[in-house]
Amino acid sequence: MAYKKQARSENEPNQMTTHRTVILMFLCGIVAFIVLIAQLSKIMIGQHDYYESAAVEDQVRSTTVNASRGTIYDTKMLILAQSATVETVYISPFEMVRYGEDKEAIAAALSRILDVDYDSIMEKWEDTESWYKTVRVKVEQDLADQVRAYVNGGFLEDPNYRYKDTESAKRGYLCSVHLIEDTKRYYPYSSLGSQLIGFVGSDNYGLDGIEAMYNSTLEGENGRIVRTAAANGTDMLFTGYEEYYDAKDGESIVLTLDATVQFYLRKNIEQAVAENEIRNGGMGIVMDVKTGAILGMVSVPDYDLNDFSLLNEYYKAKLDAEWDPVTMTEQDYNDRYLQLLQLQWRNRAITDTYEPGSTFKIITLAASLEDGAVTMDDHFNCGGAMQVLGRTDPLHCWRRSGHGDQTLAQSAQNSCNVAFATMGMRLGAKRFYDYMEAFGLFDRTGIDLYGESSSIWWTRQVFEDPRNHSQLASASFGQTFNITPIQLITAISATMNGGYLMKPYIVRQILDEDGTVVANVNPTVVRQVISEETSRHVREIIETVVSSPTGTGKNASVAGYRVGGKTGTSEKVGQASADYMVSFVGIAPMDDPQVAVLVILDSPDRTSGLSISGGSMVAPTVGNILADILPYLGVEESGGSGSFNVAVPNVRSDTVADAKAQLQSLGFGVQVLGDGDIVTDQAPVGNLKIVQGSTVILYAGVDKPTDMVTVPDMTGKSFRAAKQYFEAFGLFIKSAGVMPSDSKTIEVQRQSISPGETVNFGTVVEIGLIDTNPDLLETHG
Ligand SMILES: [Zn+2]
Repeated sequence: MAYKKQARSENEPNQMTTHRTVILMFLCGIVAFIVLIAQLSKIMIGQHDYYESAAVEDQVRSTTVNASRGTIYDTKMLILAQSATVETVYISPFEMVRYGEDKEAIAAALSRILDVDYDSIMEKWEDTESWYKTVRVKVEQDLADQVRAYVNGGFLEDPNYRYKDTESAKRGYLCSVHLIEDTKRYYPYSSLGSQLIGFVGSDNYGLDGIEAMYNSTLEGENGRIVRTAAANGTDMLFTGYEEYYDAKDGESIVLTLDATVQFYLRKNIEQAVAENEIRNGGMGIVMDVKTGAILGMVSVPDYDLNDFSLLNEYYKAKLDAEWDPVTMTEQDYNDRYLQLLQLQWRNRAITDTYEPGSTFKIITLAASLEDGAVTMDDHFNCGGAMQVLGRTDPLHCWRRSGHGDQTLAQSAQNSCNVAFATMGMRLGAKRFYDYMEAFGLFDRTGIDLYGESSSIWWTRQVFEDPRNHSQLASASFGQTFNITPIQLITAISATMNGGYLMKPYIVRQILDEDGTVVANVNPTVVRQVISEETSRHVREIIETVVSSPTGTGKNASVAGYRVGGKTGTSEKVGQASADYMVSFVGIAPMDDPQVAVLVILDSPDRTSGLSISGGSMVAPTVGNILADILPYLGVEESGGSGSFNVAVPNVRSDTVADAKAQLQSLGFGVQVLGDGDIVTDQAPVGNLKIVQGSTVILYAGVDKPTDMVTVPDMTGKSFRAAKQYFEAFGLFIKSAGVMPSDSKTIEVQRQSISPGETVNFGTVVEIGLIDTNPDLLETHG
């Protein structure tokens, strides 16, 4: 501990005034050895006699000056965690007796100001040997100031205070009530990023998340004030000698995390968990593909950091449902409570391992292309199953009827197990294993977060044994091993960014107490795994998984952006009744990938009647996340599937003939109301984007209706039906993602304006479409 030591003369009380509480204690000549509150209580119990005798001897008074813990900021300098000064109010029964102070009046005043039970304070006065009894900890400044005012003379105006003519009272301050500064941690966004940020214990020591990982950076060093004084006197004010040891405030941390991205990530995952009847929540990561910086990391359900020891609603309900007062004891309840608390605190994106399933095919594709085991011109034939050495039963494709002849890109679009098993076997066990190693799948990524797990793989020896050939086949499409979500998204980012495996990180900057940058964290390249050219080929193929009308990733389309991605549906390993992990990884924009988004939903309810697949459950979620964050991150629209939304030109005051021609040339239908020559009004108004093929209404001398329109519920209806219905109501459609078509399997999944709301005639409603074609819903093979 390197305290900055500063000897102070008695004539320099200025430094002291910043520590008001300390002054008060000196004024009274109290004797206390105050360290951190938690440690103090231990001392009072464990070493009571020693300290008390030392105290009575009045040799040295020492007071801790708490260091202020550093702030945690998001990347835009929004405060995610901050310490504020609070105070602990305590009483000294020993001094109450010694100075003859009115314990009833003081107890009544403290009880009123601090909302503490009067009797409990009276009980504390009973222990007249004690110098230190806590009345309340973490008292906010305004209340502490009220206590201070009472102590500093306020008691003289208290009609209940009886001993106003004692020597002690004449000094004008109470000696038996003390305040000491402490800090309290606040989390302004309460549950946002809770598992990632973590929390601190009552002693301001970080216990989880960033708070724990960076505790030594954040905590700073406490200072002390040491003072010697005469043994007897009550008037020791500014006598003796003192030394002041400055507290060194903690440094602050700037994360790569963006609170807005985090908000969108969580919002969409929560929605997906609810809509798809997911039993065990979900998790997600948004990564900067080029640097490995984490922009968002979510586990749902999360919890309020300001009340981290309370179960969130989800786990509380679970506990209540399990609770059986007949068979369970109170101890059982408490044990289970703690167990669930630990579950709720878990940052699942780094602590959980799972079988990735088909999202992993991106890695197999990249390795096979890089190694020359396949070329961009290869074809694969899928008859629905294949024989694999070492397996008695054939290996089935998820689509039992087979995919027929496919190009390499089509194999990815179809997520064909047979094609990918073939790729893996061409690559061979040794090279396959080499690539897994190179993509970092055997190591923890080393992300600067607490609790990262390692993956579960075979040893090289077992994997390369020819008798285990079937493992190679299954591994090629992401089965029979477990990795963490952070490992997967880091490896997939490497396939997209030119081949560079980056070390993921969450802290980008350290600031000192004045806000000066003391350290910048730069992105770290672990190694280059594949070439720039291979990476380009992987990008080309992965984009078609989303952009192809028959791609299994189609539902992740985002209007206006080029998106790539891959679905995943896998069985939870080691479970008797098969539960599934459904997932999707999306990357955008594909002309120059910037972000990767991985979302995993844990255990869709198999009795829900919903088709369980990453393509139907998670691809739309990732599409919605990208639609939210790409414009926010300033990513320019670059074509993609968005050309079906077209801006309606402003044709008011044009001639009807010109307006009609212009609209028709843009692919709109036109309906003209009235028989004037000039367009007097239009619906929708100019510059709004709507789906191409919509019918624009022109008014030529007829007034546009001014009635309000009630928005109908079109969710679950086909696009075609929704468009006709909306237009009949005088409403227009813009599609947020999947390309609109008259195919019956294209359905409305959500609409931007809730059913039943009233809006102006001509309003544009944004709809999210999903393709429910079962041929696109990759199920577990
Ligand atoms: Zn197939």
